[in-house]
Amino acid sequence: MLWGRFFLGLSGTVGVFLLCIFAGFMLHERHVTAQELVKRAQMHFHAIFIMRQWNAGYDGVYVEKRPGVHSNPHLAHADLTAVNGTLLTKRNPALMTREISDLFNEAGLLRFRVTSLAPINPENQADAFERRALHAFAETGVREVYEESAEEGRTYFRYMAPLLVEESCLSCHGGQGYAPGDVRGGISVRYDITESKQAALERTVLLVALSFAAVLLLLGGMYLMTRRIMGRLWIAQRFIERMAVTDELTGLYNRRYAYSKVVTELALAGRHHAPFSCLMIDIDHFKAVNDTYGHPSGDRVLRDLARIIKGCCRASDVAARFGGEEFLVILPLTDAAGARSAAEKIRTTVLENTFSTVEGQPLRVTVSLGCAAVEFGGAGTVSTEDVIAAADKALYAAKHGGRNRVEGELFTVASVVSVVGEARYLGGRDAGVDDGEA
Ligand code: GH3
Ligand code: MG
Ligand code: MG
Repeated sequence: MLWGRFFLGLSGTVGVFLLCIFAGFMLHERHVTAQELVKRAQMHFHAIFIMRQWNAGYDGVYVEKRPGVHSNPHLAHADLTAVNGTLLTKRNPALMTREISDLFNEAGLLRFRVTSLAPINPENQADAFERRALHAFAETGVREVYEESAEEGRTYFRYMAPLLVEESCLSCHGGQGYAPGDVRGGISVRYDITESKQAALERTVLLVALSFAAVLLLLGGMYLMTRRIMGRLWIAQRFIERMAVTDELTGLYNRRYAYSKVVTELALAGRHHAPFSCLMIDIDHFKAVNDTYGHPSGDRVLRDLARIIKGCCRASDVAARFGGEEFLVILPLTDAAGARSAAEKIRTTVLENTFSTVEGQPLRVTVSLGCAAVEFGGAGTVSTEDVIAAADKALYAAKHGGRNRVEGELFTVASVVSVVGEARYLGGRDAGVDDGEA
């Protein structure tokens, strides 16, 4: 169905358009979330980096070596005694980082580590991610590496950026052959994103559900709207089709439709060798009706006469207004005798009927009728033009014979022919009708 195809096309386009918008929105949301994760890791990195710089700026700091405070075994001169006799031990950037990282870890906040491919302290050995990152810093020149990783049922965001050798590092790391500017190692940051991932997933599910609901709602609305519009269009189309074949004043079929109906019914009759007739009806002295009672009353007579003619017809007959005050009745499967009796029925009904003017004044009219009948079993052919012309001729014979009477013409033929001119008259719709070879 046309409206079905229209709706499918429209809803498909709108649906794809909306889903593209939602998909784009989701991708953007994921991108923004990923950027936020990186930004957070960068902040952690810079916080610890600046702390280390502070420590390295003093070439390490000393803390009181109280019970439980251990010396850094990787430093040559870790301990010293203050002038007041207090025993102090050195916290260089590496040890400070590890101790602060332990505190963060215990608090369950985040973990950071300083590692290198050749650490002095074996505890600072790089893990797989850190090794990949350190190689990338050294070999490709990238300045940060990050990924999400799943560990023990939780999801972590891992980030690593390089530590470049500065003058202050050489006091501890000079022995490892570093020069200022070299990638000495890196700080890796890891923090738990399980909850935020879960929240992001919930947001995505909600967004997908909402987008589907929105699309469904929209399509539902569009379906109802399209149905309504198409329903109205269908009614309008039927109305236009009806108008195209209807006479406005009487409500009967118009001349165009009547002509095409004669063509098709005569063709059918020719094919089945069935009789066919038509009646041409004209009101007698109708001009006088108009002149005496006025045009509106004449119109009223035309409408009433149309009703009478229709009332005299069978369901299979077709009544049409053929001209001003002329009517054509098509009588399929009706021979000359049948046509004459139908004509007489109309004539007497009109004669016995009392018409009235618009003011309610009674008036009487009569009609003259010309019948044209086609029967098979003879020789020769007959066309639509022949039949209509014959009905016209018979009508004028009735007029000349004194009016209020019926005259007839009978064709006894072998077949029916189509006339090329008829097709032109019908706008080409019934072009080529030819059933003469029945
Ligand atoms: P005849 O018996 O020879 O048929 O005489 P007539 O007066 O009926 O024929 P004529 O052809 O002289 O006049 C036909 C009249 O029909 C003239 C015209 O004003 C009238 N007529 C045609 N169409 C309409 C219409 O739509 N409404 C009205 N009221 N009159 C119409
Ligand atoms: Mg007339
Ligand atoms: Mg006339």
